[in-house]
Amino acid sequence: MTHPFLDLAPLSAARFAEIEDRVARLLDTRQDVVIMQGEALLPLEGAIRGTVGPGNTALNVITGPYGQTFGNWLRDCGATVIDLAVPFHTAVTAEQVREAFAEHPEIDFVSLVHAEAATGNTNPVAEIGEVVRERGAIFYLDAVASIGAEPVLPDAWGVDLCVIGAQKAMGGPAGVSAVSVSARAWARMAANAGAPRRSYLSLLDWKERWVDGGRKVLLHAPAQLEMLALEACVERIEAVGLDAVMGRHVAAAGAARAGAVALGGGLEPYVYDVREAAPVATTLRVPAGTVASELVARALEIDSSVPLAAGGGALAKEMIRVNHYGVDATRSAVGASLAALGAALAERGVSVDLEGARRVVEAG
Ligand SMILES: *Cc1c(COP(=O)(O)O)cnc(C)c1O
Repeated sequence: MTHPFLDLAPLSAARFAEIEDRVARLLDTRQDVVIMQGEALLPLEGAIRGTVGPGNTALNVITGPYGQTFGNWLRDCGATVIDLAVPFHTAVTAEQVREAFAEHPEIDFVSLVHAEAATGNTNPVAEIGEVVRERGAIFYLDAVASIGAEPVLPDAWGVDLCVIGAQKAMGGPAGVSAVSVSARAWARMAANAGAPRRSYLSLLDWKERWVDGGRKVLLHAPAQLEMLALEACVERIEAVGLDAVMGRHVAAAGAARAGAVALGGGLEPYVYDVREAAPVATTLRVPAGTVASELVARALEIDSSVPLAAGGGALAKEMIRVNHYGVDATRSAVGASLAALGAALAERGVSVDLEGARRVVEAG
């Protein structure tokens, strides 16, 4: 008997290239798409280290924890870093980016996170892309939490380095990820003396040995199971249509937001402006005197199947995350999450409207 995971035929270079092409179609891009053999942090770090060095000035937009990480890598590369931080419950505006360029015309690299699952906000990438393009800077985007939940269009938006992972709204594996690279970004990397070469972090290695060679020979044995899972995940999205998948996330986010308000008990959306709320996940603020991580722990005891988490780090006290993405991008997962939270609040003597929340979530 052959084992379904273990006794697989080798993954051919042609099949690998075909999976890259399917991911490129999902992004509606004609840029080179490289699938990297690791979690999304691999292309996120590889793209920064490949493109940025001493002499560069980077505008690092911080709307959540990932922006902070990127700033550290940028400084590590020797760049001058200008941090543009906004409160985690809002989005950055194109106007703020325009002002940063006016103040620092030497900016030649912009890093931005599209949507942050960790904070529940989403940024207006199309508008920001216009500003970045006017100024001719390289535009780097973390679209890991947005792809599958809302449109991600690197070509239309002028994104030079667009990183995605399949583990959030795509409902796929976490062990491989992809980056689309514009011709301008490749040129910057080729000219960057400090860009990783002959390294697992190196995008240039993939450019020179895979892309330029007509994608005939892989650099090393691919992560076969993860590649097959990514292929299956893209196939599943293609079968129902990307719009339908995004629609499920938008509906789940709307239900979570309205349902939490209907539930009451002092819960309120963490991101106040609905236009700045990400469809991938909804974050909630807990009432004063309640510790979010304790409330979530109790809700998970009541129903361990719900996609609830407390905020990370310092946000653990005040923030609840309803991670309604992937398989959980449904009204029923949102309804069960709010029911568990409502039950945990009721136990503490807080008055909640469980029935009202249920009706709102089902009606949309
Ligand atoms: C989830 C996520 C990633 C990937 O990180 P993991 O925590 O390893 O899943 C990267 N960037 C953003 C914005 C994310 O939300």
